[in-house]
Amino acid sequence: MRVPDVAARVVFDAIEKSYGEQKAVDGLSLDIAPGEVVCLLGPSGCGKTTLLRLAAGIERPTGGRILINDVEVAGPGRFVQPEDRGVGLMFQDFALFPHLTILENVAFGLKALSREEARRAALRILARVGLERYGEQYPHILSGGQQQRVALARAIVPRPAVMLMDEPFSGLDVQLRDAMQEETLALLREARATTMIVTHHPEEAMRLGDRIAVMRAGKLVQTGRAQELYLRPAALFVARLFSEINEVAYRVSGGRIATPIGSLAAPGAAEGETVTLCLRERGMDLAAAGANGRANGGGLVGRVKTAKFLGDAVRCEVLVEGFEAPLNIRTSAGAGIEEGSEVKVLIDPAQALVFPSSDDKVY
Ligand code: ATP
Repeated sequence: MRVPDVAARVVFDAIEKSYGEQKAVDGLSLDIAPGEVVCLLGPSGCGKTTLLRLAAGIERPTGGRILINDVEVAGPGRFVQPEDRGVGLMFQDFALFPHLTILENVAFGLKALSREEARRAALRILARVGLERYGEQYPHILSGGQQQRVALARAIVPRPAVMLMDEPFSGLDVQLRDAMQEETLALLREARATTMIVTHHPEEAMRLGDRIAVMRAGKLVQTGRAQELYLRPAALFVARLFSEINEVAYRVSGGRIATPIGSLAAPGAAEGETVTLCLRERGMDLAAAGANGRANGGGLVGRVKTAKFLGDAVRCEVLVEGFEAPLNIRTSAGAGIEEGSEVKVLIDPAQALVFPSSDDKVY
C-alpha cells in the first residue's frame, strides 16, 4: 500500500447547500484533522449525505468553502472536479461491476499504475481483506459481506487522502457488521486516510469515530469525543441519542428546579420556564430496602412495578417517592429486585442533566 507523505486536513467553512427552499446544509463549519475519523450522526434528512456529496464534489455548495489541505476545492470562485480531489467513496449501495473479475474490480481505480502494478496492488489489498483466492472469480459468487469487503478494498486501494463512507455497514447482519467495522478501522488507520462516516447508529459512531459530529436540520449540534457527548450532551436531542433516559418536566424558580434528589441548577433557563430533567436509566441503581422499608443510608424509597430480565441487567419500572410517573431503571442488582418489592433508589444528582424544553423541537 502506498502511504501518502501528508495526510489531508478537511475544512468545511460555513457551508450551505439549498435545494430550492430546502436548506439541506445550513452554515456548517467543521475542521477535520489529518488522519482523523469523524462520524456524522443524526436523524434521517438532517443533511449527512449531502455533506459527504459536497466533500466528494458530486454537489456544489450554494455558500461557503471546502478546503482539503488548505486548497479550496469548492467555493465561490472555484470548483475542483471529484477525480482531482483525492477522495475515495464507499456508499451504502456500493456496486461491484458484475462483468469484471474481483481483481479487476479492485484494480479499477488504479489507472495511474501500469497493468502489472495495479494487479499487484489489488492482490495485496485482497489478501489484506482475506479474499485473494477469489481474485479471478466474478462478484455474484460472493456473499453480501464478502462483496462489501471487495468494495472496501476497491475504495481504499488507490490510497485516497480522504475517505467518505455513507452507511457502509448498513446492509450487514450484526455479527458481520462488528467484524467489518474492526477491519475497516484497521485499514483506514494503516492508510492514514482522513475519514468521514455517515451513520444512523450512535453505537457505531462511538465505536468508529475519533470524534462524532451530531447534525440536526442541516446544522451541527455538537462535535466531540464519544465520552464528551455522552457525559456532557449539549442538548436534550444529543442526550437522547446516547443513552436511554427518563424525562421529567419542572418549572424553573430562581434559576433552579426543586426535585426529589435536591435542588438542581437550570442553566440558561428563564424564570418560570419549563425544563426537562434527564435521568439515565443506567445512571441510577436499586438496592433491597432496609428492614423497615425505609431507604436507610440515602436513596429514595421506591416500589418495583415491573421488572424485565435482560441478561446482563434487569430493566425495572419503579414508582419512586416524589416522582409522579414511574422511572425506568436498569440495574445489575439481582436479589430482592422483583415486581412489587420495596427498594432503595440511588440517584447521583451529579449525573442528572437539565435542558430547556424548547430544545425538544420537532425535527
Ligand atoms: P438519510 O440519513 O435518510 O440518508 P441524510 O441526513 O443523509 O438522510 P440528506 O440525504 O443529506 O439527509 O438530505 C438532506 C435534505 O436535503 C433532505 O430533506 C432531502 O430531502 C434534501 N435533498 C437531498 N438531496 C436532494 C436533491 N437532490 N434534491 C432535492 N432535495 C434534496
